[in-house]
Parts: sequence; C-alpha cells; structure tokens
Amino acid sequence: MVERIAGVKGMNDLLPPDSAKWEWLEARVQSVMQRWGYHGVRTPIVEPTALFVRGLGEVTDIVEKEMYSFADRLNGDQLTLRPEGTAGVVRATIEHNLLYEGGKRLYYIGPMFRHERPQKGRYRQFHQVGVEVLGWPGPDVDAEVILLVRALWRELGLVEGQDVHLELNSLGQPEERAAHRQALIAHFEAHASALDEESLKRLHTNPLRVLDSKNPAVQAVAESAPRLLDFLGEASRAHFDGVRAVLEACGVPYRINPRLVRGMDYYNLTVFEWVTDKLGAQGTVCGGGRYDGLIEQLGGKASPAVGWGLGMERLLLLLEALGRLPPAQGPDVYAIVPDAAAVATAMATLEALRRAGVRAVLHAAGEQGPGSMKSQFRKADASGARYALVFGAEELAAGELTLKPLRMGDAPQERRCLAEVAQWAGELLAGRLPTGSDNPPLG
Ligand code: ATP
Ligand code: MG
Repeated sequence: MVERIAGVKGMNDLLPPDSAKWEWLEARVQSVMQRWGYHGVRTPIVEPTALFVRGLGEVTDIVEKEMYSFADRLNGDQLTLRPEGTAGVVRATIEHNLLYEGGKRLYYIGPMFRHERPQKGRYRQFHQVGVEVLGWPGPDVDAEVILLVRALWRELGLVEGQDVHLELNSLGQPEERAAHRQALIAHFEAHASALDEESLKRLHTNPLRVLDSKNPAVQAVAESAPRLLDFLGEASRAHFDGVRAVLEACGVPYRINPRLVRGMDYYNLTVFEWVTDKLGAQGTVCGGGRYDGLIEQLGGKASPAVGWGLGMERLLLLLEALGRLPPAQGPDVYAIVPDAAAVATAMATLEALRRAGVRAVLHAAGEQGPGSMKSQFRKADASGARYALVFGAEELAAGELTLKPLRMGDAPQERRCLAEVAQWAGELLAGRLPTGSDNPPLG
C-alpha cells in the first residue's frame, strides 16, 4: 500500500451531510444581504504580506504569529493567505476606485487562514461572513451593520439577548487613545509582576493589546485598568451615543464592555462583539467596528468605514448546540428501476419532475445491473427520500408508474400516469419538511 497523505492539521474537509448545513447557512446569509441592499465581493485568498502587516498592525496576534506567509517561488514576492477579509476588500476598493460615486455596502463569504492551535471553534482554515460599509461617517451606519447581524440571527432562529449577546465599546480617536495609553502603561507597570512575557513585551509597543490578552491573570489586571471610554472627547462621545440611540430605538439589548478592544489596530470609535456562553472559550461569534483610518493607511483617499466578521464554524456549532439547524433533507423521490430497459423512461420522467422543482434521484446500476427491488428499496430508504417511484415492466406497459410513500406510516401506494407528470409533480412538492430556505423570513 502506498502511504496516505493526510490533510493539513486544523483545515477541515466539508463533506455530506454537513455540507448541506453550510449551503443552508450561505443561502440564509445571501437572502438577508439582498434584502438589506448589500453587494457581494470576492477577493483573492492570497494577498501581499505587506497588506496585512500595514493594515492590521505589526504588534497584533495575527501578524506576529498567525499568518501563513511564503515567498512566491518564481519571483520572490512575499505573499500571505488572508487571515481576515477587511484588508483585501479595502485594497480592492482602492485599486478599483470603488468609492468614486459614493458609499458602498459590501459583503463576502469565504475561507480565512490563521496558524492557531486547533480546538473546538478554532481552526487554521475557517470561514467568515463579513460586511464592509465604506464611505459614510455617521453612527447610523454603525448601528445598521449591527442591526444586520440581528436580522441574520433572527433569520437563523437565534434570539438576541438570549442566545447571543451584543457587547459594545468605543475606542475613540488616535489622540484620545494616546492619552489613555500613558495611563494604561502606568497601570500595567504598577502590576508588572502579574503580566506574562507577551504582555510585558507589548506593554510599551501596543498596550491596548494587553487588554485583549486571553491569559486570566492578565485579564484580572486589565479589569482594573483605566477605561478608554473615560478619555473620549465630545465628538467621540456623541458618536457613541448616536449608535446607542439607534440600537435602543430598534430594541437591541447590549452591554457596554469598556475592555473590548478587538484584535486589529485599524479600529476607531465603535467596536462590538456578539458573544455566546454556549461555546466555551471560543465564545465570540461576530466582531467588528469602525475603521475610518484604514483606507488612507493603505494608500487610498481617506474615507470612513465600518464592518464586521462572523465565524461560520462557531455559528454552526452554536446552532447545533441549540438544536436550531434544519432537519437533514433527502430527495423528494428516488426512482427504482427493476429492469435496465426502463432506465430511459425513468430518466425522462425525472427530467420532467426536476423541471417542476422536484428533487429526484435515479437509482444507479452497478456492474451486475440495477440490483434487486429489495436492495433498491433499501437504497431509496437510506437516501431519505419521501417517495419511491417504481418503473416496473407491468406499470410501464400501462403507461404508468407506482408512487410509494416511504415515510408516511402505512399510506397506500398508488399508480400515476407517465404522460401526466406535470399534474402530479405538485403533489410531490407539497408536504415537504420545512427547511430554513423554504421558511418565510423572520428578520
Ligand atoms: P478570538 O478572540 O476568538 O481569537 P478574533 O478576535 O481573533 O477571535 P476576529 O479576527 O475578530 O477574531 O474574527 C471574527 C470572527 O471570526 C471571530 O469572532 C470568530 O467567530 C471567527 N474566528 C476567528 N478566528 C478563528 C479561528 N481560528 N477559527 C474559527 N473561527 C475563527
Ligand atoms: Mg484570534
């Protein structure tokens, strides 16, 4: 036997039946985005390393230790698998002058890569949905992107303030952070003995990052640290109050978390996270905020912006834990072909059914032919189909087939006319289990 090659640790294959959950989630996301007037963007998975170093900040977990970076073997260019979506969207916005006629509401869905220790809810390849709203400075847009997440929760059957909680903070502006920084450094210096090596290292380079530490001992010192909120000037306060006013008017419960700083340096003013207590240490499902300086920092014309990123693996784990995922769905019909001679008729009938919207699967024959009726019925049952369609010689001679309910107790089997497929196709569509994608929107 040849030695097997395993996949990369922390990077998962997505296989049936789980892939159906992902397709369901993506369809729900796209439906919400369309209703809110957000347009999809797809940027490359590989970007120049410099984009993330300059965009996210050198003293951040991602840039210091989580990026998959490599030199292009042909020309030596330094490249990185994208660890997040914002920098790439901003690069594309600048490169294609997307803001020349005003603001843009954008969203993306796709894989991100970070070299972290794999555990439940934390992987090396994971997937994010994200939005970036570019070009508008007002607190209404900050509130809008938060409300959009709430709409997504509702679309998925999650309740804000119960299954997922909103935490809010303001990081103010760079000048305000500079004043806070001095107070923060003094506080941490006074408690240096409780800091770990990494926090001590960051104390003078990027003390705000110390607030984001995952080490409980460091977190305890962070509890009593001076609050950035107390250093905000009037304009920053007014912006924060503006966001809160819209959230309150729309009935979104939230908690102000003065220690919420997020992992990238590009944020200012509003930052927020949607958290859950159902996923242990990986409790942040969605995080975002305003990043008014980033476009200019990456070489574009200064323009305000706000966005968020949401971890799809964590969201699916949460939905699973709460039992909110839709039931697995088999095809509507599974066609049983006792004799290979009936295949052409069966295929033509299934074509007509599929055109009418029926999910239909034809039993595929093995090398020895289609197999016994009994084994075909076993396959039909295992497929989860609601009906078996039997294309027996006797039925076909009469221009008919047998329609046999598979999951309706002892409902009798009946004959249907082959020539009248369109008439009974609707009958097969009715009585489907509701799935998320058939549900009327809630949000
Ligand atoms: P954490 O504090 O859990 O490391 P983060 O602050 O690094 O998260 P962001 O960069 O804000 O995360 O990314 C937004 C979302 O993407 C997170 O809230 C989370 O749901 C998800 N996410 C981030 N890193 C991973 C990962 N390695 N595996 C799975 N999901 C992730
Ligand atoms: Mg992280």
